[in-house]
Amino acid sequence: MATSTYRGRLAPSPTGYLHVGHARTFWTAYQRARAHNGTLVLRNEDLDPQRSKQEYVQGFIEDLQWFGITWDEGPDVGGPVAPYSQGERRDFYLLAWKKLYESGFIYPCICSRKDLAEIAEAPHEASDEAIYSGRCRDRKLEMAAPRGVNWRFRVPDGHPVNFRDTAQGEQTYTAGVDFGDFLVWRRDDVPAYQLAVVVDDSSMCITEVVRGCDLLKSTARQLLLYEALGLTPPAFYHCDLVCDDAGVRLAKRHDALSLRSLRQAGVKPEQLRSQWQMCRNDDE
Ligand SMILES: [Zn+2]
Repeated sequence: MATSTYRGRLAPSPTGYLHVGHARTFWTAYQRARAHNGTLVLRNEDLDPQRSKQEYVQGFIEDLQWFGITWDEGPDVGGPVAPYSQGERRDFYLLAWKKLYESGFIYPCICSRKDLAEIAEAPHEASDEAIYSGRCRDRKLEMAAPRGVNWRFRVPDGHPVNFRDTAQGEQTYTAGVDFGDFLVWRRDDVPAYQLAVVVDDSSMCITEVVRGCDLLKSTARQLLLYEALGLTPPAFYHCDLVCDDAGVRLAKRHDALSLRSLRQAGVKPEQLRSQWQMCRNDDE
């Protein structure tokens, strides 16, 4: 039972089986919650109805348990801040959209995929968005709900976003340079990851977010959302990423080993933990 106010979370997406890279991050989150005598929340990030599958929810629950990770609240055990699946939290996201809309932080973007490809300024990581030109920035739409169009957050160009990461130290990003106006709601009526995560971490009272180093820049975007929504951000702990023998990030290898296949091959969780190699965070 938790004896402190620390609240951490595990936030897997049911779009495939967990691989070793996920396990490393979730293990760190688990260790930190236990070290603080805190509470660990399991959140099912099934935001994308096209890519999420129920079998993978059962899959990550089984794989995490096999790995030795336990949690205190979640879609399988319930808890005081239910529901724990993003697919059931739409009302929370709509409220946040409305707040951002009414205070003028977001605007509708009608650029097509083709427009966006043509105006992309720089090559970007697969996990990242290209810097948006701001072409639709002055566009206005009278709407009661976000339906049918992309909505972007207007970042304060040139404004520094500074934060101290517990694992990686001081971080500085510049809005409009390191990242541009990012999506908060998609035209297919699905809230964007950045908005959903901020709303959930806040409403689930998470005090520390543990995740991979590849999301450091994403944290800068999210801090702008916390500010715009008048919410207090949690602390952040970005883990080093796991690499294979050749130094390639596991998350970037499409053949990254799933926990499931390792378990079936007779590998033990202790063996995996002793073999982890960390990547140097040198690709920014
Ligand atoms: Zn646009």
